[in-house]
Amino acid sequence: MAAVRDLYEILGIDRDAPPSEIKAAYRKLARTLHPDVNADPADQERFKEITGAYEILSDPAKRRRYDEFGAAGPQGAPFGDIQDIFDMFFGGGFGGRSRGPRSRVRRGEDLRIRVRLTFPGSVFGVEQRLEIERLAVCERCGGNGARPGTSAVTCRTCGGAGEVQAVRRSIFGTVMTATPCVACGGTGEEIPDPCEGCGGDGRVPTTATVTFDVPAGVLEGMDLRVGGEGNAGVSGGSAGDLIVGIEVEPSDAFVRQGQDLHGVLDVSITQATLGGEVDVETLDGPERLRIESGTESGTVLRLKGKGVPHLQRRGRGDLFVTLHIVTPRDLSKEERTLLQRFAEIRDAGAGGNGAAPRALRRPEYRP
Ligand SMILES: [Zn+2]
Ligand SMILES: [Zn+2]
Repeated sequence: MAAVRDLYEILGIDRDAPPSEIKAAYRKLARTLHPDVNADPADQERFKEITGAYEILSDPAKRRRYDEFGAAGPQGAPFGDIQDIFDMFFGGGFGGRSRGPRSRVRRGEDLRIRVRLTFPGSVFGVEQRLEIERLAVCERCGGNGARPGTSAVTCRTCGGAGEVQAVRRSIFGTVMTATPCVACGGTGEEIPDPCEGCGGDGRVPTTATVTFDVPAGVLEGMDLRVGGEGNAGVSGGSAGDLIVGIEVEPSDAFVRQGQDLHGVLDVSITQATLGGEVDVETLDGPERLRIESGTESGTVLRLKGKGVPHLQRRGRGDLFVTLHIVTPRDLSKEERTLLQRFAEIRDAGAGGNGAAPRALRRPEYRP
């Protein structure tokens, strides 16, 4: 927003200009800008400005009050524009800022719902089909709120102005203020004979089926905006939007981190020791994983592009599989015998009685 022009600046004079100079400056400007000699709308606006500035600065009391507050406005609240300054001094009676009645046309309200998606639904996107309660245009009156055959009339309280004038005392003296008319909500019209279908609102509650696509890659807590699926507007106003809050069911198999997925795969000691191939369930179906022989617990395998699609751009994250080597607890007699045999071959009596104490090694701390 442009800074409010100073009244002295408008007339092109110094702050300490004597009254004679103010008058002379105004006359000089008025001669070229007067509506009788100049039809340019921009110049007419300028003429209004210099006249307003002159009327304030040529009145010693008003000039003093203006100097006191300047463009900072009373109570430090800045004036929005030059018209605000004029309103303060002339009570809205200068320059004709007549707001007039407020239009009845109003945009419909936004509505908010929540949907709960399955985990795969949030990853790949899903079409939603929901029944919602919302306000629709009343078919009986076509939305104008008047009983068919009747129409709205001029408001009797405000006479159609949409606002009620009141006199108020302020630091600038007596000021006329205008407040919106309560009887007609500022529209200047009232409906003497309301429509029976909607009670005069022009809208009626309905149940509607709404279909929309949830894009791939949405997250818990996101809001989607479905345009035009909220409440109908008033008097031909556009409909509001439907705001869809996203909830996602947690997955038993995956944790999502950004666009990547993380899961844990249990691997037997023999698979980890001997190596081999294993099929795992991903969101894209089974994938074959190669387990190298001698794999340690905690090894992370990466399946490129098997994560979550990006919302705004192409490509997908990765799936990271952490291998967890399971130590068996439920050995059969035969298995126990075999493992004992293995231990004997591998390192006879490791850790048993009589063996030398074993050295520790430094752990590898990660930064
Ligand atoms: Zn009214
Ligand atoms: Zn109606």
